[in-house]
Amino acid sequence: MIFDTTMWTAVLRCQSCKSEFSVHGVPSADVSFLPQKHACPACGFVPAGVPPGLFGAGHLIVRLEKRPYYRRRSDGDTWHFNFNCSEWPAVDLVERRDAPPADAELCNECRVRSGLDC
Ligand SMILES: [Zn+2]
Ligand SMILES: [Zn+2]
Repeated sequence: MIFDTTMWTAVLRCQSCKSEFSVHGVPSADVSFLPQKHACPACGFVPAGVPPGLFGAGHLIVRLEKRPYYRRRSDGDTWHFNFNCSEWPAVDLVERRDAPPADAELCNECRVRSGLDC
């Protein structure tokens, strides 16, 4: 199986309460939008009204870590790797940082959203 999923784990600092939080499974193309569209889990602050892609105007990106990140529902067989996926498991999930088994089922929506459709 050939798939190249360049996913990032972004550590952000909230503009409002200054607490740090991380977001997993971010495709490269979405990294610059993160500071504007991701709500702070601590205080719920979303930097609304800020032009997308304008660095420094939303949450601060503290650091980016490049590593694969996969999730599946604990009762499901499909692995997800794009946090924008409508099926991205948020609760009751299994996570792994290395690639899933070669015969694992990867989510189609995640593939499309990550530009892996071929
Ligand atoms: Zn906050
Ligand atoms: Zn998915």
